[in-house]
Amino acid sequence: MASQPASVRLLQDLIALPSVNPAFLADPELHGEHRVAEYLAAAGRRQGLEVEIQPVVPGRSNLLVRLRPRGEVRQRVLLAPHLDTVGEPAYAEQLKPVVREGRVFGRGACDTKGSVAAFFQALLNVTGSGPRPAHTEILFVGLVDEENMQLGSRHFALHGPKGDLAVVGEPTGLEIVTAHKGDVWLRLRAVGKPAHGATPHRGRNAVTAMSRIVLALETEYAGELASRPAHPRLGRPTINVGRIEGGRQPNIVPAECTIDIDRRTLPGETEAGVRREIAGLLRRRGLKAGFDTLRTNPCEPLDTDPALPLVRSLTRAAGRRGTRGVHYFTDAAPLAAGGIPSVVFGPGDIAQAHTGKEWLAISQLESSIGILERFLRGLD
Ligand SMILES: [Zn+2]
Repeated sequence: MASQPASVRLLQDLIALPSVNPAFLADPELHGEHRVAEYLAAAGRRQGLEVEIQPVVPGRSNLLVRLRPRGEVRQRVLLAPHLDTVGEPAYAEQLKPVVREGRVFGRGACDTKGSVAAFFQALLNVTGSGPRPAHTEILFVGLVDEENMQLGSRHFALHGPKGDLAVVGEPTGLEIVTAHKGDVWLRLRAVGKPAHGATPHRGRNAVTAMSRIVLALETEYAGELASRPAHPRLGRPTINVGRIEGGRQPNIVPAECTIDIDRRTLPGETEAGVRREIAGLLRRRGLKAGFDTLRTNPCEPLDTDPALPLVRSLTRAAGRRGTRGVHYFTDAAPLAAGGIPSVVFGPGDIAQAHTGKEWLAISQLESSIGILERFLRGLD
């Protein structure tokens, strides 16, 4: 069998190190962002790169691997994939990387150890041969916890260092992504008055009240959102009522009913604004409900200017005419909210992410390394 390219060996090694986000599986054997970080740190040190560990929460740290420019630092480009993966109980077999028919199979192959391997290999290649940038520092940033609360990118955005562009690794199929929607999760609670099921007129039915609210959200509010002007890369905002719970048994008039809603936001929209809109709708309809916020970390929208010089250089290196919007959330949003212009880029198809059979085409992996190398070597 022909020997594999270094990037494929690297990706196989990374898949074999489990790094399931602790939010998804309790078994500490399967956690391991630190294992991936240690592996990369050792590889970086062997090449003479500077390695720094940035503690985020106990036991979980971002990894920073730095290539200094030949001269003084005038700008900094971040290569920022996440180190964690999703996971499920039937995980074990996905830990064994398999190379077959031009693809690498295994947990994280596409989301997002493929990007980790590509970004790190590109850094090693630029370090190992050819000219390195004169004034641009290249910083590989392995982020923890993207799949749950984005603790890694939120911490990095607050504590730095700052960057002039962050390339966030996700399987975009080698497209340059400059925009995605934000996401607000809200819980609405309708409160009724309990009574015996035989005398419903003595109570106030919270389930009935909530069903009117659901209808108003799914018709009037959803319709209003659908009639707004579309964002060029993202389309329109949406709402989904994803969960409902109320009542205890048939012979009791329910005292309480809650729904959880997911409202995808466009750049410029805020959680406070969404609450005001929904409160206004309920007022107009004479409906009553209280609000809780479900997420402690709001997911901000991303809308990086495609005309920024570094974004254009990367777009050119990728052979693309323009940039894209996507429907999923990434670490790029917290980094951008912290003042670092951010785009999303990486090998693989997002349709593969979070599935029971993840894989990445080796051709995508190799192409992404080529694109990044072209981009990095073209920097001043
Ligand atoms: Zn991901």
